[in-house]
Amino acid sequence: MQSETGTLRPQLAALLADEISGCTGCGVCVGECGFLKLYGSPRDIARSYDPDDPKKNVVCFECSLCGLCSAVCPSGVKPQALFLEMRREAIDRGFGSFREHKGLLGYERTGTSRRFSWYGLPEGCTTIFFPGCALPGTRPSVTVAVYERLKEAFPDLGLVLDCCTKPSHDLGREQYFSQMFGEMVAWLESHGIQRVLVACPNCYKVFTEYAPQFQTETVYERLAGIMPETTAEATSSPVAIHDPCVIRFASAPQEAARGLVSRSGRVIAEMSHTRTRTLCCGEGGTVGALAPDLADAWGELRVGEAAGRQVVTYCAGCANHLGKRLKVSHVLDLLFNASKPSSGPITYVNRLRLKSRFKRIVPAVISRERTVPGGGSGMLRPLLFLGVMIAAIVLVRASGAGQYLEPERLRALFSGFGIVAPLVYIAIYTVAPALMLPGLPLSMAGATVFGPVWGVVYTIIGATLGACAAFLIARYAARNWVERQLVGSRWNKLDSETAQNGWKAVAFTRLIPLFPFNLLNFAFGLTKISFPQYAVATFIFMLPGTIAFITFSSSLLGLLKGKVSWEFFVGIALIVAVSLIPRLVKWYRNRERREPRPEVPWSLRRSLQLKAIAAAALAVTAAACYGVVLKYFWALNAYLYTLEFNLLFVAHRLRDGDLAGFVEYLKPMSSARAAGIALVCQAMHTFAFPFSPLRTTAAFAAAFGTPTGLAYVGCAGLVVTGLSALLGRFCLGDLAPLHYRHRGLAPRTPPPAWAVWCAGAMAAIPGFPLLLCGLWIGGFRIQPGRSVAAITAGLVVRMLLSLAAY
Ligand code: SF4
Ligand code: SF4
Repeated sequence: MQSETGTLRPQLAALLADEISGCTGCGVCVGECGFLKLYGSPRDIARSYDPDDPKKNVVCFECSLCGLCSAVCPSGVKPQALFLEMRREAIDRGFGSFREHKGLLGYERTGTSRRFSWYGLPEGCTTIFFPGCALPGTRPSVTVAVYERLKEAFPDLGLVLDCCTKPSHDLGREQYFSQMFGEMVAWLESHGIQRVLVACPNCYKVFTEYAPQFQTETVYERLAGIMPETTAEATSSPVAIHDPCVIRFASAPQEAARGLVSRSGRVIAEMSHTRTRTLCCGEGGTVGALAPDLADAWGELRVGEAAGRQVVTYCAGCANHLGKRLKVSHVLDLLFNASKPSSGPITYVNRLRLKSRFKRIVPAVISRERTVPGGGSGMLRPLLFLGVMIAAIVLVRASGAGQYLEPERLRALFSGFGIVAPLVYIAIYTVAPALMLPGLPLSMAGATVFGPVWGVVYTIIGATLGACAAFLIARYAARNWVERQLVGSRWNKLDSETAQNGWKAVAFTRLIPLFPFNLLNFAFGLTKISFPQYAVATFIFMLPGTIAFITFSSSLLGLLKGKVSWEFFVGIALIVAVSLIPRLVKWYRNRERREPRPEVPWSLRRSLQLKAIAAAALAVTAAACYGVVLKYFWALNAYLYTLEFNLLFVAHRLRDGDLAGFVEYLKPMSSARAAGIALVCQAMHTFAFPFSPLRTTAAFAAAFGTPTGLAYVGCAGLVVTGLSALLGRFCLGDLAPLHYRHRGLAPRTPPPAWAVWCAGAMAAIPGFPLLLCGLWIGGFRIQPGRSVAAITAGLVVRMLLSLAAY
């Protein structure tokens, strides 16, 4: 199959060729499978496959990977293997990550995390019980009961609470799956394990397929030989057996499960799809995430075949999934007379409690908990940081150490270096990454000593130099050796791609502060990326994170003493903005895959309803704010007086035209206050003194210099016009659609070009109220992109004319 962006995985190329030549298109499998009914025979799908088309890459994620097609195919074709390979190809090409799979991957990550996993091996242990994730979560007491029973046959039985990572396997995340499962297998092998007893059919499939060195059996086969003849009252109504599709070709567990059901006194009446031709419960291949209708269709088929009978299965996942539609029991529920299985978040609690219970009952001489690369809860680190901050604040305040944390004192420490202090800081930062010293404390010190602006300047210079130094060390010390070790077409392809587009990888990893800075510097040195590309990309793309972190860190000293400054809020906002970058990148990459959202037709009634809701929300918020002000007026008093004073002062200066006094008032201001006053001035011009002579531009240019002054006034003008446009849209935004509809046009007809030009012209006339300009934009429903361009151009002309006038 041709691909524009690179060759296909060899396995996929082979499977596509097999499918095209082997599948006769007889349609037997299509008749059995809702997915194939939708997309055609495997041969059709293979022929139309285009690895570069994001939409074609979604199709394979709608196959349940159940294997029914292989079971019924008269030509011996294995379509599910093809669809799994397609998933892997999609992942390799960056088309295979879906937000809908996040929940399942989080569930998997929890299972492999340090908190949830536990390995316990008694002395001389060669056999382990591997209960998986679903059984311990839904049926913890049954899991213990099974362990106790198995111990009768294997006195030195070990226990492993972990996830086999089949979700990642099925989602095509081959590399992650191999890494995680491979590590588990290597550990078990190195500790002498030879036999694995699994409770979950998915684990069975993974162990038999990817760890053939172990003798893998299901616990049902073992229990069939251990359990007493009858453990429950015989019942007359027959039950149906649901064989999990994942082990449709494993006859031993199927027979064992039936034997156990019979021993429990039940009579079995088989459904039409059973054993090798069993049906998926709907959960297979995580289809429900992207194609819930297909997943539901499988479940409905089972409901029909069960025909009111109770269904017994031997997979906790199937029991859970089918249990939403049918009366389903796990075979172990019957054997151990279990109570109702748990669901939802309780399953996590169960797993944690089960882990502590097993820690007590398994006489382990060797034990471990798993550590997952990048695992754990996303909220854990922020919460830990918050906890440490609160503890530090309490400590500083209780011990009276705040007096030593004055920035002046710290600066005095550095003042010993005189004007070379920044050079010392940059020099330390240059060598730190090569010595693998953490940059975090260094950056915090830089932010504290040099403040938010110079802290950013010195830190970005130091960090870039440090990153370059580590890169060069790795490049000259180890690149040749690495090149000799890593041979093969895949590596060569990766290496030459890095040489061409490596700056993208650098940009991505520098923008996202999750990647380890020190390790990455060395890692990039081992690749073929050119040094200038690396250095420039590092400097540019590290800048946003550095600004965010240094701004935030410069507030920490005050925070430790209980003072919250503007740098704190701005820093937090910037950190949040930087952490959103990965999501934006992902959204950008996935945008082609998404179907365009159906446009909601405009209706006056709906528009008025939305406005009523917005007005009510605004009124409630205003009332709440008013209540807070009344209650805490004593605390806000001073702020309100200062604000009032400033507003009156600004109003008088604007009205009376006292330019010199206004300039003197502005000169000593910090940049944050100056930006605030610029906003106030523009708002007053807009809402309080429309048509008054515009002195703001001249005053700001005189106080801060022309470029900075114009930047303050221009940005403030944009914000105020934007707010006016929102007001215009709220009050007048329904007039244009009504007018268009009256003339027989679509209500959402784009505004005419002259309306956009007029908006720009209004913004360009000095003294013309921006309020009217905003109302015009809102009334005509001019799109944000076009209105921002027009207003920016207009404001620039307005400011230049104002400057020329004064
Ligand atoms: S594996 Fe299952 S869902 Fe996928 S094509 Fe085959 S029968 Fe259909
Ligand atoms: S049953 Fe086999 S030969 Fe027939 S369409 Fe399906 S895959 Fe092709």
